[in-house]
Amino acid sequence: MHLDPEPLAITASDAEILEALADIDTPPLLAAVATLTGDLSLLRDDLRPSAAESFDPTAGISPEQAATARQLATDALARYRDSGCVAAAPPSAPSVRTMLEFLAGTPVADDYIELMTEELAIDGVDRRAPEWNHATVAPDRDFRVAIIGAGMSGIATAHRLAQAGVPYVILEKNADVGGTWLENQYPGCRVDVPNHFYSYSFAQTSEWPQYFSTQGVLLEYFRACAEEFDICPHVQFETEVVDATWSDAEQVWNITVRRADGTTDTVVAHVLVSAVGQLNRPKMPDIPGVDRFAGEAFHSARWDATVDLAGKRVAIIGTGASAAQFIPAVAEIADELRVFQRTPPWLLETPNYHDDLPVGTRWLLDHVPSFAHWDRVWIFWRSHEVLVPMAAVDESWESTQSVSMMNDLVRQMFTEYYRVQFPDAELFDKVLPHYPPFSKRFVRDNGIWARTFTRDNVELDVGKIGEITERGVKMADGTEHEFDVLIFGTGFQASSFLTPMTVHGAGGKDLHATWDGEARAYLGLTIPEFPNLFLMYGPNTNIVINGSIIYFSELEARYIVESVRMLLEHGVDSMAVRAEVHDEYNRRVDAANARMAWGAASVNTWYKNANGRITQNWPFSLLEFWQRTRHPDPKDYVLR
Ligand SMILES: Cc1cc2nc3c(=O)[nH]c(=O)nc-3n(C[C@H](O)[C@H](O)[C@H](O)COP(=O)(O)OP(=O)(O)OC[C@H]3O[C@@H](n4cnc5c(N)ncnc54)[C@H](O)[C@@H]3O)c2cc1C
Repeated sequence: MHLDPEPLAITASDAEILEALADIDTPPLLAAVATLTGDLSLLRDDLRPSAAESFDPTAGISPEQAATARQLATDALARYRDSGCVAAAPPSAPSVRTMLEFLAGTPVADDYIELMTEELAIDGVDRRAPEWNHATVAPDRDFRVAIIGAGMSGIATAHRLAQAGVPYVILEKNADVGGTWLENQYPGCRVDVPNHFYSYSFAQTSEWPQYFSTQGVLLEYFRACAEEFDICPHVQFETEVVDATWSDAEQVWNITVRRADGTTDTVVAHVLVSAVGQLNRPKMPDIPGVDRFAGEAFHSARWDATVDLAGKRVAIIGTGASAAQFIPAVAEIADELRVFQRTPPWLLETPNYHDDLPVGTRWLLDHVPSFAHWDRVWIFWRSHEVLVPMAAVDESWESTQSVSMMNDLVRQMFTEYYRVQFPDAELFDKVLPHYPPFSKRFVRDNGIWARTFTRDNVELDVGKIGEITERGVKMADGTEHEFDVLIFGTGFQASSFLTPMTVHGAGGKDLHATWDGEARAYLGLTIPEFPNLFLMYGPNTNIVINGSIIYFSELEARYIVESVRMLLEHGVDSMAVRAEVHDEYNRRVDAANARMAWGAASVNTWYKNANGRITQNWPFSLLEFWQRTRHPDPKDYVLR
């Protein structure tokens, strides 16, 4: 996979160009063609999307407007072709603003313009790259960073540290990079955010084969990034961190690692970055007898491809995000499949979820690669920020099925989709959620959920499981079902941050005892009395509305590298967030989460820990995370 490939020269006829553009969303199309040709007159007022139509796939653009826009784009590309395919110079800042405001359909505040310009990365400038270097800031200071984990977050931070000339090592328990996208090899595994957004802003490619690529393609992408940024030579593979202890005397982290051969060793670093992910340790359900089953049994994140499901009686426990992806695949292979559902997912209608990019879109991306950048910002703008109000709780709204009038309208709209998909009343009752939409991440659906559960070999069981036996599953009412294979789609130990390793901070303070099941951090990143420790994808940095976690990791990486800069520039050994700053921030987060759909008392989700606190989610806008993580404020920290 190539990062930011050059545009191919256009040789297609006018009619072929127009045909290629037939299915393309016109706002990012016009912005991309304007970028390539330098012709901003394409961004006509009468072709703007409607800022108010955020949930409408057409964004308020009528078929006539779309036809006009595609004709304009075709004419501009034909002129570009006829004048020798000479690309215009990268757009100036005012031009980028014009284009972004066209895309948003509304004037955009300065902050957003800056943020989206970073996301867009249209002119080859990596605006999030550090603007400093170890060699100039503190050339004589010996300084090393250790990163735990070579997944998406670890790779992002490693790249930024390398850009700043800061030596680093990555300690990775697996034999390869990729984290989630290496470990989750279950059939059907793919992203639920289009790849033009689920990718690094600093490593864009127009070569995604599908809108929502599969696990193998994601792994290929992260491997390509690791290679491009020369990261692998810095990774100690098959090296698991079992303990990290801060030395007050030496002002360093002593990190105990276990190698593949079982031996242990110590790695010393001035700064420790945990990039271990929230979704890395599989969770088994709390059902009596969970280890008793005598047949083949495995968790989706440890998929056992040696088990042939053909001709077998298979049970799947769980219908969460991963299970929703592999249930349809298993249904096609197994002789009999019984799915045990506790809570049904809200389905988000996504007709192109499994589709290859249409030939026309492929053509556009090959000849106008900046379309990938504009599509990224288009998705960014429409997939999260404008949806946040729909998840906000209206205190006066009395329902357990929705949290506000706007949220209820979404519920009704989504329920209609279920009515169309599930005409059978009994199945409809089983699959329709009774909790507010936006309480959990939506599961994308192109109709496959209904096709799966109407198969003759598939049964959806919504009864309560009593126990797992040697032969299968015994329900609470005493009914027993026998199986050959048992698959757990029961998610991850998401609220057990940084486990099973142990971490000791200043004065030997034990992190897990400090948290006592209530993981908290300032901005998800730093913890009082744990100097020079930074968490990525840490507490309260997950998002429910289908935005991209990569966005958060990129911003966390910037904060970490700017923190290293602060340590070096201030000539101090360590920084630890002030307890009052951390506590006040967490109070705000808790209060805000309680006012969101996922915090509603009626909702049972993996975002809540054993005490019902939301330890996972970010309750504010994407803009706010960007604003708060641009650089550390020395006043927030005790510097030593
Ligand atoms: C199946 C699945 C699908 C997802 N789909 C989406 C999506 O569509 N959109 C989205 O925005 N997000 C999605 N996510 C969430 C998130 O984007 C991914 O989990 C992402 O990979 C997180 O990257 P990470 O580097 O933070 O963590 P991970 O990818 O989990 O990587 C963590 C790394 O740390 C290593 N590690 C852990 N503990 C240790 C240790 N003690 N010592 C050494 N190494 C260690 C692991 O081996 C792993 O390589 C998905 C998650 C899952 C599980």
